[in-house]
Amino acid sequence: MANQANVNPVPDTLLDRFRPAPRGPWADLPDAQWNDWRWHLGHSLTTVESLRQVIDVSEDEAAGAEEGRDAFKIGITPYYAALMDRKDPGCPVRLQATPRTAEMHVDRWDLADPLAEERDMPVPGVTHRYPDRVLFYVTHDCAMFCRHCTRKRKVANPGTAANAQQIQAGIEYIRRTPAIRDVIVSGGDPLTWSDDRLARLLEQLRAIPHVEIIRIGTRTPVTLPQRITPDLVAMLRQFHPLFVNTHFNHPKETTREAFEACRLMADAGIPIGNQTVLLRGVNDDAAVLMDLNRRLLMMRVKPYYLFQCDPTRGNSHLRTTVAKGMEIMDALRGWTSGMAVPYYVIDAPGGGGKVPLLPSYVVYRDDTKIVVRNYRGTEHTYWEPET
Ligand code: SF4
Repeated sequence: MANQANVNPVPDTLLDRFRPAPRGPWADLPDAQWNDWRWHLGHSLTTVESLRQVIDVSEDEAAGAEEGRDAFKIGITPYYAALMDRKDPGCPVRLQATPRTAEMHVDRWDLADPLAEERDMPVPGVTHRYPDRVLFYVTHDCAMFCRHCTRKRKVANPGTAANAQQIQAGIEYIRRTPAIRDVIVSGGDPLTWSDDRLARLLEQLRAIPHVEIIRIGTRTPVTLPQRITPDLVAMLRQFHPLFVNTHFNHPKETTREAFEACRLMADAGIPIGNQTVLLRGVNDDAAVLMDLNRRLLMMRVKPYYLFQCDPTRGNSHLRTTVAKGMEIMDALRGWTSGMAVPYYVIDAPGGGGKVPLLPSYVVYRDDTKIVVRNYRGTEHTYWEPET
């Protein structure tokens, strides 16, 4: 568990709702090893045989691993693996982590690069689509390889590693493009890097006068919370304004360890946002997302986006309909704090960017008035100003 020194107190009544994660077959491992993020990366589960330590591997999972051997690697930290239900292949954590034969099915609309990120790269690794911000791909590596990953075309593939030259060219592009005020450092997962290596990158970005904010995209608070150490946050806080966006998908992931990781970052003044992906069988249920988002707020993590799952090759078994997403949003808005309601967006295939989707609350509108329905379905009229 993350070091708890110098963190602000949280009432025990709230803290008690965040249970320490089970350790599964590693119950007897010394704490020093379990709390060491490098131990987890060094003991990543990458084969069916290693998975058998934690789950009764189903025929479909075994066949999925065999058939998909060359398509998308398996890689699960012991921490995340121990969250999986041994018996239930439909466990929401397991569905995100273990391969299935359905990944070999390619739907008519599936794309290798659904967001056309490669098309909008002025230099390799920098996607510059929106006027004032860029996505900076710095590594192909992740603590865990999520089965629904949008970038599975390159993530986990050493052939797409961003070498030092490419990263330097990316920094140079950002430096000579004054319109860029927001840099999203992403991958892969930048927190698979050492603190020193990440600090060198952040130093260079922070030295560019027109870069106002830096965001780090990382799933380590979910899949490897041990990575969020006091040393890491002491380093990150030197580069404010710096934000972290993470990716919790299910309440089972909100363990005490995850709580402590987020507490360390929040106490260091790092605002944390969450980007959930709507996944069939994992979280396509309003009660599950309501619970997740309320728990995230207690962790000082703002639910930011709920993404319609991208049509990445082999993802169709995890995708839900947009109608389902709208139904869920209707069941969230008004029924819980607005703070707990993320934007529901489609990242438009072909590089159209993020488009928000909302159930319609407008019943009627003309030049004089608008009639709206509220979350309970009652209608109300708002009159426009007469002058
Ligand atoms: S952590 Fe993010 S980039 Fe890495 S596999 Fe998961 S979704 Fe993809």
